[in-house]
Amino acid sequence: MFLKKPKNIRTVYLDNAATTQMDPKVKEAMDPYFCDLYGNPSGIYKMGRIVSAGLDNAREKVAEILSTSPNNIIFTAGGTESDNLAIFGIAEKHAPLLSSGKAHIITTKVEHKAVLQPIKQLEKDGFDVTYLDVDSEGKIDVGDLKKALRKNTILISIMYANNEIGTIQPIAEIGKLILKWRKENNTEYPYFHTDACQAAGALSLKVESLHVDLLTFNGSKIYGPKGVGVLYRRKGVLIKPQILGGGQEFGLRGGTENVAGIVGLAKALELVQASNDKENKRLIELRAYFWKQLEKNIPKLHLNGPSLNNDKTRLPNNLNVTFLDIEGEALLLYLDEYGIVCSTGSACNSISLDPSYVITSCGLPYEYAHGSIRFAMGKNTTKSDIDYVMAYLPNVVEVLRKMSPVNLASE
Ligand SMILES: *Cc1c(COP(=O)(O)O)cnc(C)c1O
Repeated sequence: MFLKKPKNIRTVYLDNAATTQMDPKVKEAMDPYFCDLYGNPSGIYKMGRIVSAGLDNAREKVAEILSTSPNNIIFTAGGTESDNLAIFGIAEKHAPLLSSGKAHIITTKVEHKAVLQPIKQLEKDGFDVTYLDVDSEGKIDVGDLKKALRKNTILISIMYANNEIGTIQPIAEIGKLILKWRKENNTEYPYFHTDACQAAGALSLKVESLHVDLLTFNGSKIYGPKGVGVLYRRKGVLIKPQILGGGQEFGLRGGTENVAGIVGLAKALELVQASNDKENKRLIELRAYFWKQLEKNIPKLHLNGPSLNNDKTRLPNNLNVTFLDIEGEALLLYLDEYGIVCSTGSACNSISLDPSYVITSCGLPYEYAHGSIRFAMGKNTTKSDIDYVMAYLPNVVEVLRKMSPVNLASE
């Protein structure tokens, strides 16, 4: 059994959950802000005012899509920074205000590291933390959340959609539950944050319908620039700024604004949100085709995450598959030789060979987490891309399985 030699190698990029190719229209919108409109938006001279208007425009556009006021939009340097600002911002502002006892935070076991690490830090610093379990599809039980609520719970952080297996959490339902709890207990707590980095390209971000107080997303997952993000913060919710400086972003995030990046993010958001209904349908069909081909041509597969037919419970672009008896990393590197780009679970884990904590949290054994591959399609993915993958993948899997210690031992 030998590996098929690739004939005409092309790039099939299936790592859109890690980052996306920037849309040329986004680049076009950003272009003037590099060499022509370079003035500082805080400058009161004409060029500064023009740049400042571009910034305002971007803020208004983002606010409109979130159905909120521009004053509630804080621009940051990415999803990680927005998550940190939300979590430390609430924790440091509100824990000292509690009349008694330890402040308590609720999150889930499957959050992105940009949420988990700040919360772990707070736990080390003396906060109580509840990490909610998830079911076999990666979803939390809203009943568990209800049971975990305490008088001293100041923050709940639950992701909108998971970056590895695409599970969509019932954010609006959770938001309603929290509103009810606050009313019954006559308190402003807990505040509700959601990390919507994976959701922004596919789902509604209307914050009033989601009933969230804080929402994070970034440019790099929606065909916009990297290193720029948004934190939505409901009016009246006090947070402690984490970067102090010249008072930019309503005094909540100092530093000269990344104007080109912000303009690009706003344009990218506008583009993805305008086309997501149609695009979601297309991706769901394409994914169904991909999965059917996989099942037909490769034995011993396991689909990780929710069912593929429901766009309410799983992101349309996400397919996460375990190829049993294979190391995911080995498969990934072989596929790369054919120009097929994908990842094992979370891109942020690629330097460590630890199995995915998201997949083990779904109750699957380590062997499953080890052989898992995430195919994250995007707006540029076509049926012919999937056919190209299927021309090589079954053969690569077969060869790798022959080489695997499990099979060598049984010979
Ligand atoms: C990518 C991602 C982040 C981190 O965003 P950066 O812009 O890379 O800092 C955080 N949360 C989720 C769910 C993500 O997918």
